[in-house]
Amino acid sequence: MKVNYHIHTTFSDGTTTPQEYVEKAIERGFNEIAFTDHLTIFPESKNQEVSLTTSKHILNLTRLEEYVSLIKQLEVKYNDKISVRLGLEVDYFPESEKLIEEILSSYSYDFDLLIGSVHFVKGICIDCSSQKFKVEEEVKKNGFDKFYSAYMSLVRKAVETGLFNIVGHMDIVRIWGYTPTNGAVEETKVLTSVKKQSMAVEVSSRGLRQPIRSLYPSARIMQECKRLEVPVTIGTDAHSLEEIDYGYDVIVNYIKNFGYTKIATFSKGRLNFQLL
Ligand SMILES: [Zn+2]
Ligand SMILES: [Zn+2]
Repeated sequence: MKVNYHIHTTFSDGTTTPQEYVEKAIERGFNEIAFTDHLTIFPESKNQEVSLTTSKHILNLTRLEEYVSLIKQLEVKYNDKISVRLGLEVDYFPESEKLIEEILSSYSYDFDLLIGSVHFVKGICIDCSSQKFKVEEEVKKNGFDKFYSAYMSLVRKAVETGLFNIVGHMDIVRIWGYTPTNGAVEETKVLTSVKKQSMAVEVSSRGLRQPIRSLYPSARIMQECKRLEVPVTIGTDAHSLEEIDYGYDVIVNYIKNFGYTKIATFSKGRLNFQLL
């Protein structure tokens, strides 16, 4: 089963249209792919109208209907060749949790899957090159362990909301090459909640293209996933056509090395398992 559960299109910060991805995915032998454009409701958003003023990197709420109907059309059109899933990568901010919930429930769509991701810690975009210096300042001031712990506690909160199906790039906070000397206890707390919520942890090749040069999550997290029998799934976090299967074999081997034989897939929010 070849799946990619993390793809960004021209609806947010990707350079490729959904249709182009589907055709490429069929060519590359994928059985299932999910579109997961960015839904970001910043903490300062007080209501849906305010949250409409978003940047071009984010799926504009006014285009959500269009996004959904296009993905649904593709699902039908390519039905006999590939399963196309409808998803979103939702930014988690505790301050906008209520609004996120409100927005998601105000649409009658059945999303197949929602990725919950943390990209912001203490107001810093942790994976934006332009804000790398801010992460470095934090690390210099308080040490990386503190920053890692602040990040992980946000991930745990995101999981505990019950709004999401997949934890996106669970330790992307390591992006700039930092490694926590501690943090195993926090990781276990996150994973215990993931298991309880019938969610899955994404194994992502994004990090292979970033300064850390390694997959997310770390081997330590993967071992703990296996011990707690937490389901895992696969995403390349593609932002362009070439990234549709970036590092795909590396991901599969990594997952198998920890003893997994199956991966998690989602349909209308329901967790299923497929042979790797
Ligand atoms: Zn992300
Ligand atoms: Zn992403």
